Amino acid sequence: MATGTDRQLGGATDAPLVDRQRRVIDYLRVSVTDRCNYRCTYCLPDDGVSHVDRADILSFEEIAGIVGCFARLGVSRVRLTGGEPTVRRDLVDLVRMLRAIPGIRDIALSTNGHLLSELATPLRESGVNRLNVSIDSLDAEKFAAITRRGELHRVLAGLDAARAAGFSRIKLNTVAVKGFNDDEIGALCRFAWSRDMVPRFIEQMPMAGGQLYVPGALMSAAQIRAAVERAHPGQSLVPDTAGAARGAGPARYWTLSSDPTAVVGIISPMTEHFCDTCNRVRLSASGALHTCLAYDDAVDLRALWRSAGPDGVIAAIRQAVASKRDGHVFDLVGIGGPRKAMIQIGG
Ligand code: SAM
Repeated sequence: MATGTDRQLGGATDAPLVDRQRRVIDYLRVSVTDRCNYRCTYCLPDDGVSHVDRADILSFEEIAGIVGCFARLGVSRVRLTGGEPTVRRDLVDLVRMLRAIPGIRDIALSTNGHLLSELATPLRESGVNRLNVSIDSLDAEKFAAITRRGELHRVLAGLDAARAAGFSRIKLNTVAVKGFNDDEIGALCRFAWSRDMVPRFIEQMPMAGGQLYVPGALMSAAQIRAAVERAHPGQSLVPDTAGAARGAGPARYWTLSSDPTAVVGIISPMTEHFCDTCNRVRLSASGALHTCLAYDDAVDLRALWRSAGPDGVIAAIRQAVASKRDGHVFDLVGIGGPRKAMIQIGG
């Protein structure tokens, strides 16, 4: 039963989730579908991936029930992702259900933006308070090539709609790929800054058994920083001490030396690890709990929810977090990642 102190902590009625490295887990990424309307070349193999049967995808009631268990363990921030979360029908109903869970105080969404023109306002009104949008190029042809079917004009219109709906400091996520968009780093920064958005660059990880990873194409965090500086002559990047853009995630933030509002984030799982500060776990669309993105091992929370209810799920979460891996072993040559693709675990 909740005590007065528990209530002060929000929804938490149990001791917080702390792993053996004393990392506090308060952030859950929830994949609502393993399907996507885009086919990004670094994310999906040419021949696709096998999808979970629809019957095995968690219902909204199951997702909310399991998120409620995490909330009792002190998780307060949730990110909806996928696959592409906006292709899941009636997503706003799920957002409303999650909003009603005591202790959940932040709901974020990662999207490719393709459906944002229609969905930005309902998502905002239902309770999404933060938005990340993936955009790997500002050139329509290149964008179509890397997404295999994406339409840049739709994403740009979606970003306008999101701003009009009241989303601020939208994060723009770009996987930085040498020979593809390394010449667009400056343009992506300027695009974001002129719209009060935060550009972020991600090092490509060797997911899916490394089959999509091209070692020579990895743009390291240091090379990304150098590219930003080259695009702004006379400027250097300095750590963002104000931390205005800092979220719940692993990005490290920098600003132009002359302009503290020109913030850029870099997510560097390959060359500048951040595992020692990892605060997250992931729930796949079929209810698999992954405590580290880099490994295939997972606990089937869907089966536990159906057979043992909240108490069984809470015990399993505790046990899984207790043995959370200390860190990943991604290797620069493209080994050391999971067999599963990002879309299957949840990005
Ligand atoms: N569809 C949504 C989106 O586009 O943001 C959410 C899921 S997507 C898998 C989440 C993020 O993972 C995207 O920004 C995508 O670019 C990134 N991503 C996918 N595969 C990756 C990889 N191998 N390495 C690094 N980032 C990757």
